[in-house]
Amino acid sequence: MRTSAGSKRGVAIANVALMIVASLLLLPGGDAARAPDPGHDHDPGRARPADARAGSGGAATRPPDEPPRRVAATVESARKVRANELGLVPVLMYHRIVAKRTSSLDRTPAQLRKELERLARKGYVPITAAEYVTGRIDIPAGTHPVVLTFDDGTPGHFALTPAGEPHPDTAVGVLLDVARRYPGFRPVATFWVNRDPFGLKDPDAQAAAVGWLVRNGFEVANHTYRHADLRRLPRSKIAKEIVLQERLLRRLGAPPSVTFALPYGNLPVKKNRSAAYRGSWGGTRYDFSGVFLAGAEPAPSPHSTDFRPRQIPRIQANGKGGECRRWCSAYWLEWLDRHPSKRYTSDGDPDHISIPKRLQGNIAPKRAKRILAY
Ligand SMILES: [Zn+2]
Repeated sequence: MRTSAGSKRGVAIANVALMIVASLLLLPGGDAARAPDPGHDHDPGRARPADARAGSGGAATRPPDEPPRRVAATVESARKVRANELGLVPVLMYHRIVAKRTSSLDRTPAQLRKELERLARKGYVPITAAEYVTGRIDIPAGTHPVVLTFDDGTPGHFALTPAGEPHPDTAVGVLLDVARRYPGFRPVATFWVNRDPFGLKDPDAQAAAVGWLVRNGFEVANHTYRHADLRRLPRSKIAKEIVLQERLLRRLGAPPSVTFALPYGNLPVKKNRSAAYRGSWGGTRYDFSGVFLAGAEPAPSPHSTDFRPRQIPRIQANGKGGECRRWCSAYWLEWLDRHPSKRYTSDGDPDHISIPKRLQGNIAPKRAKRILAY
């Protein structure tokens, strides 16, 4: 199902249905999301690279990495910045980035820019989904991690100009520009793609795009080959969908996927569920460290006992209208501003986990040796 262009009613219906998905995802113990995500482009093969002009170059425009910040945290330094590395992390979920919105999930480049600038001003620093799930959160003391995720690999996410530079109106172009204006705002993000990454059909153009992103610190990972609804498939077909995409990504120069986003946010039925995390098909294996849903709240710290790596919630990037008033990014980012003690705040030292003493019972046992409690 797709919403018709310019139809306000279609947009409203899409919102309602997505919120149903979101609320189902929140039901404890229940099967996640029984309804499909209506705003999705269900057939990535249909996407046309209308504005993509892939160059064969791929020269990096990102400034050289800053020197590593390896200052060991102390109880005093952690208290000073009110470090809380068991706090919540917003994982923002974007779909198409287009100049003219036709679905409630669409965002314009201007809306994306506004949200990224707001994050930068509020002290957020982007990390990739892989960094989040593996707990490698290496950001300055007093800052907050945010994970920027883009589903379906559409042309508005990334395109190279004929000169081999990121197209300025794509998500990557906007992110790089915001990072230039706000030093310290790391230009990294995670793209979960299907068989025609970024709407590109030509294998050389696909390799140029994926190669540029990987070389510049972005994560490009698995979203199945055909955007399959895994809830409907047997184990062997789930594994085939994932492996075909994994093989494509390797041919294009991406490392094995560490993370995976469920198409439509749908987990397989219970008896097949583990095939969404690990498995093999035709001699190719996969084993994801994190599997991401499609809604609808901030995610727990990866160091927390609340962290469930196989069902990680995300927040739809959107305003506060209609059904989005309590589910989407405008609402949750304001909520996190109003509840600073609930938010993940870094101690600036990736080797320690700094927390207020009151949270000591919430740390995952495997991280327990690295605690600084104040
Ligand atoms: Zn998708």
